[in-house]
Amino acid sequence: MKVVICGAGAIGCSLAYFLTHAADAGQDVEVVVIDEIGPAAASSGKAGGFLAADWCQGEDVDDLCRLSFRLHVELAAKLDGANRYGFRAVDAISCVVKAHPSTKKPKPNLTKASAVVPNWIPQDNVLKASPMGSTNANEVTMAQLYPKDFTNVMLEEALATGKCSFVRGRVDSIEDKTVVLGDGQQVAADAIVLAMGPWTPTMLSFLFDFPNISPPQLHKIHSVIVQDDATPAWDPRVVFGVVANSEDELEIVPRANGTAYVCGAHVPQPLPSNAAGVLPDPSSIAEILHGLGKFSGRAHSPDTVQASNACYLPQTKDYTPVVGALRDGVFVSTGHSCWGLLNSTGSALAMTELLLHGKATSVDLEPFAPERFE
Ligand SMILES: Cc1cc2nc3c(=O)[nH]c(=O)nc-3n(C[C@H](O)[C@H](O)[C@H](O)COP(=O)(O)OP(=O)(O)OC[C@H]3O[C@@H](n4cnc5c(N)ncnc54)[C@H](O)[C@@H]3O)c2cc1C
Repeated sequence: MKVVICGAGAIGCSLAYFLTHAADAGQDVEVVVIDEIGPAAASSGKAGGFLAADWCQGEDVDDLCRLSFRLHVELAAKLDGANRYGFRAVDAISCVVKAHPSTKKPKPNLTKASAVVPNWIPQDNVLKASPMGSTNANEVTMAQLYPKDFTNVMLEEALATGKCSFVRGRVDSIEDKTVVLGDGQQVAADAIVLAMGPWTPTMLSFLFDFPNISPPQLHKIHSVIVQDDATPAWDPRVVFGVVANSEDELEIVPRANGTAYVCGAHVPQPLPSNAAGVLPDPSSIAEILHGLGKFSGRAHSPDTVQASNACYLPQTKDYTPVVGALRDGVFVSTGHSCWGLLNSTGSALAMTELLLHGKATSVDLEPFAPERFE
């Protein structure tokens, strides 16, 4: 079976990995991954990389999240994820800080409430803090990875089997079961999977007259990676932070390599025509650094910024992924919103089962069926 995957984000690259490593891949599976810009060019290279097994309880994605988290743990053990893509267990806290940080000399973090607050946030700045997620010390339910490295490793491992190739090109149309690229190149397939992140809904409408599944407004979300010698203790606690009396929300993800990923600054803006056109606004980057200062209690210079980025969430109008068969031989896997790194593994396993056996057995794909929009 020849499968053409359109889009080399975490969803497309994980699918390439699972297809080429399926136990029954002996049945001549050939995979072609196509991307206009390159692997991890969009949010899959610019996300936080926080993973949680059980933060979607009561939602349609709950089973998918649990399966995906388990698969991440297994993959990291098999592929040396700790060294190759920064996989490690983490804790998480929610933290509300004052809008005007104290200028007094910080007191040591000694009280009960502040036991959860990392040392780099002075206690005087904290209004409220509490641990998030499971408190069962025997069970790992939260972890992190470096999204770009993870996505690249998925593709590299697929390529290494000799059953997968990568083609750089813009998917312009699909005629019968042939993908037609911008340069006129044609790639024939037995099955085509559309995994083009936030660009997928437009493609669905354009190619298949599918109803518009995008939410009414898309937001460009900004992020920075900072490396700051003055804050050596970027300990493994992810901070979901809010600045009091403001709409400022920051997600601060310390990484094992001594950097911290900080995202915030959501700006409503239409989606550019491709991932290369998604550029950060300098004012939004400055806003993130300013917000980070409310937590750390000091100024963060632009010199500490290793990378500034922007990207869009792949979303549907019901904020639930769309994973399944669309038309004869055409499949879709997108709309994973803020959990696409997490759910890349479970979605890839389920799609592999669907493609090779006609039905997903590891997780019920019914809630994600494309038909719900028709
Ligand atoms: C700021 C931010 C933080 C996040 N943090 C987390 C997190 O901590 N944990 C988590 O689990 N998730 C997180 N996410 C969500 C996660 O990043 C996404 O859900 C996931 O990366 C989406 O992967 P994807 O493969 O569907 O799409 P994308 O990463 O958007 O990839 C789509 C690919 O398709 C290609 N493409 C598009 N159109 C075409 C075309 N016509 N022809 C060829 N190629 C095309 C693009 O070039 C791109 O490479 C975050 C997202 C954002 C925005």
